[in-house]
Amino acid sequence: MSTSADIGVTGLAVMGSNLARNFARNGYTVALHNRTPARTTALVEQHGDEGAFVPTTSAEEFVAALERPRRLMIMVKAGEPTDAVIREFAPLLEPGDVIIDGGNAHFEDTRRRERELRERGIHFVGTGVSGGEEGALNGPSIMPGGSVESYASLGPMLEKIAAKAKDGAPCTTHVGPDGAGHFVKMVHNGIEYADMQLIAEAYHLLREVAGYTPGQIAEVFRTWNRGRLDSYLIEITAEVLAHTDAATGKPFVDVVEDQAEQKGTGRWTVQIALDLGVPVSGIAEAVFARSLSGHAGLRAASRDLPGPHGAPLPQEHAAAFADQVEQALYASKIVSYTQGFHQIQAGSETYGWDIDLGKVAAIWRGGCIIRAAFLDRITAAYDGRPDLPSLLSDPKFADEIGGAQDDWRHVVSSAVKQGVPVPGFSAALAYYDALRAERLPAALTQAQRDFFGAHTYRRTDRDGAFHTLWGQDR
Ligand code: NAP
Repeated sequence: MSTSADIGVTGLAVMGSNLARNFARNGYTVALHNRTPARTTALVEQHGDEGAFVPTTSAEEFVAALERPRRLMIMVKAGEPTDAVIREFAPLLEPGDVIIDGGNAHFEDTRRRERELRERGIHFVGTGVSGGEEGALNGPSIMPGGSVESYASLGPMLEKIAAKAKDGAPCTTHVGPDGAGHFVKMVHNGIEYADMQLIAEAYHLLREVAGYTPGQIAEVFRTWNRGRLDSYLIEITAEVLAHTDAATGKPFVDVVEDQAEQKGTGRWTVQIALDLGVPVSGIAEAVFARSLSGHAGLRAASRDLPGPHGAPLPQEHAAAFADQVEQALYASKIVSYTQGFHQIQAGSETYGWDIDLGKVAAIWRGGCIIRAAFLDRITAAYDGRPDLPSLLSDPKFADEIGGAQDDWRHVVSSAVKQGVPVPGFSAALAYYDALRAERLPAALTQAQRDFFGAHTYRRTDRDGAFHTLWGQDR
């Protein structure tokens, strides 16, 4: 049996196969394993000429094929299947070996697995991989956690297979210990939900208020993609909107059921944000918007409720409105990223990860679903001031959002008047205004809490906790 594979991949569905091919195309010898051997055979038959593969059919044969210290990547369904695979392989490994989990694991599971394997001397690297199947093959954004030592052994390989940003930098870095990589991947996905929701709202407004056809909206998105909104999601939106359904000849977007599904990483982002006390209202609205869309019965029962039905603007005003929507979209996007980076900062502090936010922005510049020119500016903001309290404290972002705010307000108020739901745009604007407010009505909330629950309050003029004897102290 050869013992020369640089890395092994177990779990050869679409993501695992493509990552294995990516490693092989970059000159690495890759041992292959899958619970059902047919996938291993199929991969070698179809792509065996792309590089050096070592197909194996048992856990023992797979582990024996790996060069020491071993690097073994798991690309199976997240959750219990990942634990099952670890249970199968860990007894065959030795101290110093590295297990990499590239699935979409919950970061708390990653923390547990890392702890358990560390006790046996095995490095466990929970890593986020973004970019879908195409990214896995041609260069994903890779977000590895785990020990510094494991990155020393694995990092150069990941840097080779990762996407490269426009300046040539690989879209991977050592994010931080134990669950840091999967945490950052989770927030990446939350931001992805928010980006998609904001784009959907922009589309809805251009359709209902500007009165544009999907083809015209595709053109608007193409134009936007040449400016500051230049990003993968804007680019594919233009393609989707320009697409015609072959069976009916209708715009493709009109034959798709208007119910968005979700796998769970957006929901995790919001659940964890609630635990950490971080306001990620844009991401939460995006998750709720998907869930609302899926309540078909509730929507059918509510269709006759009174309200306006978005009468289109006179066509001579449509182009100006589209420009205002671009401003609203850009401003809301700044808020989503502000909230997402706040969550990463809070996670980093809570779990002691010491995550470099500038590096996170830098590795999202290529390969991943939220890749965008905009991330260069976030990288620059954090590189310029690593302790930036919030993206909105960066003078450039503050200027830009300030410049966009009149149009942003106009778009949100037009949407409200026309009865077009814009939960993402309006939540982002409310967050912006709440941060700007000299005084928030939270003072009243806190007084109420003291009234009914003796929860106490702090005063603006004195230190300490106070309680008023309500009803007696008038
Ligand atoms: P998947 O459909 O999530 O999982 C299928 C793979 O898991 C198959 O290789 C399957 O083996 C294996 N598997 C399932 N249960 C198992 C068990 N109990 N024991 C051993 N193996 C088991 O495949 P995928 O879409 O390629 O995703 C792989 C991982 O990457 C997932 O964690 C996913 O969340 C993550 N991910 C996916 C994407 C994406 O765009 N699809 C992007 C980033 C990350 P059999 O062939 O024997 O059934």
